[in-house]
Amino acid sequence: MALEIVKYGHPVLREKGKRIDHVTADIRQLAADMIATMYAAEGVGLAAQQVGRPLMLTVIDVTPTELPWTISPKLPMPLVLLNPVLSHPQGEQIGSEGCLSVPEVNAPIRRAEQVTVRARTLDGKDIGFDCTGLLARAAQHEMDHLNGVLFIDRMDAATRASFAGKLKKMQKETEATLDKPRKSRRSLVRL
Ligand code: ZN
Repeated sequence: MALEIVKYGHPVLREKGKRIDHVTADIRQLAADMIATMYAAEGVGLAAQQVGRPLMLTVIDVTPTELPWTISPKLPMPLVLLNPVLSHPQGEQIGSEGCLSVPEVNAPIRRAEQVTVRARTLDGKDIGFDCTGLLARAAQHEMDHLNGVLFIDRMDAATRASFAGKLKKMQKETEATLDKPRKSRRSLVRL
């Protein structure tokens, strides 16, 4: 089932994900729903924060794109990564990046060309792989989400400034949809 994607301005996007120590039925369902959500939104990756759950869980599938990437050893997509850790960044790539939580904002972002990813699968298996190109970019973008970091934080100052108005508007719109704690009328009763 496709879930609603949380938009910029929602505080959950700034939360660091909680480690997942036990794969429960809830986590399996969440992963399946995140994959459905990613495909429905035509994204190549999605982090749990983006569906309102601050957990160390991300899904990635870069196969629908024409941009180059590699993975070694070969693993089937979609990737479901629990508690991922990135290491051994090498080289550099600058490419246009967007985010399902920050619609209509695209900008060149500098990323490592290659990274090593270690993670646990839904089956409780520890996996590790080296990846390059778009997959390395996706892994870095999603790892950022899991740490409460957004791609706009990685824009150069001039680019970020050019989107300032749009971001502010989006933040206001999102905040308007959030349930704000209201002062209970009863608290005003004096007896
Ligand atoms: Zn994103």
